[in-house]
Amino acid sequence: MATSKTYLLEKEEINELFTNLEKQYVLYAPVKISAGGRYQEQDSIMYKPIHTYQDIEFNERSTYSAKEVLTPITQTLFYFTDDEFTEAKLKQKKNIIIFARSCDINAIKIQDQIYLENGNIEDFFYKRVRNKVKFALMECSKEFDGCFCCSVGSNKTDHYSIAFSFEKEKAHIEVKDETFDHYFNSKKTSHYQISFPTENKLKVNFPVIENIDLANQLKKHPMWDEFENRCIACGACTIACSTCSCFETTDIVYTENPHIGERRRTYSSCMINGFDEMAGGNCFRKKNSEKYRYKILHKVYGHNARFQTGPMCVGCGRCSARCPQLISYPETLKKLCHAIKEIKQKKGV
Ligand code: SF4
Ligand code: SF4
Repeated sequence: MATSKTYLLEKEEINELFTNLEKQYVLYAPVKISAGGRYQEQDSIMYKPIHTYQDIEFNERSTYSAKEVLTPITQTLFYFTDDEFTEAKLKQKKNIIIFARSCDINAIKIQDQIYLENGNIEDFFYKRVRNKVKFALMECSKEFDGCFCCSVGSNKTDHYSIAFSFEKEKAHIEVKDETFDHYFNSKKTSHYQISFPTENKLKVNFPVIENIDLANQLKKHPMWDEFENRCIACGACTIACSTCSCFETTDIVYTENPHIGERRRTYSSCMINGFDEMAGGNCFRKKNSEKYRYKILHKVYGHNARFQTGPMCVGCGRCSARCPQLISYPETLKKLCHAIKEIKQKKGV
């Protein structure tokens, strides 16, 4: 990559840029869905294809993360008959640009680990979309309620091709990837430097669980009991989470011929009933408090034990924002830190 250059484009020039980019790319960005939220007349912000600068919602955190562009809520993997199967064709023919904040780009790095680096098995369906993706960084000019990216180091990234600092009628655009240079021929340059958040109001001391013994002791700690009645096992926190990736597969058999059908995968969650049910009806985590404990310990310990790259969390704050029971994830982490201290003190460590 060559040294980056920054340009200043007015709204009309940005829309002209988007029109030109759309010849090669589908542009995905957070879009406000009016009255599309959980409660009456509440809006929702989701990743959708955009065509103009005005389509992008850059003043608020998106309700759902960018992961949906790579892993749709439901997708057909293959079609089958009695004795053969055919992989579902990729509908997305063009390359993709995803407008995302630093935490969201770092979250996709975690998704990459899960789908591409897990025991050297690459997920074919994830990889074929992922290969098409470039990132357009969205500069965070202000933080949102409950963000704690600085506490987990996801406040910065250099994993982007272009970066946008949005203003109402214009944007400073840093071009890092030289394949985008030609879109900016004769455009006005700028001395603006894209910045990253350096501090959040919310500071989280992210717990560290050094070994499996400590993790096992934490499993028995009474701190989880309060969640038995508070958590309703709805899974809303994991569906909104930028890094959660659990899915289930279902065979849909066509009614006119039961030997023909398709296999789909659909978002699921370790937080919902039935997720861990095995043949014979046995399940590992019947109680809601056990489900919640599993989720938290996986974010803090399980993922890092496998990949050695730190927490499975980028501090985006979506889980707490989505929880209908107002369960605060940062508060849970605080309680976990106390529990760790307590266990260590008892052991004299
Ligand atoms: S656990 Fe919560 S704060 Fe962390 S990445 Fe998921 S939604 Fe964001
Ligand atoms: S923590 Fe909240 S959002 Fe998550 S499953 Fe429990 S009640 Fe639902």
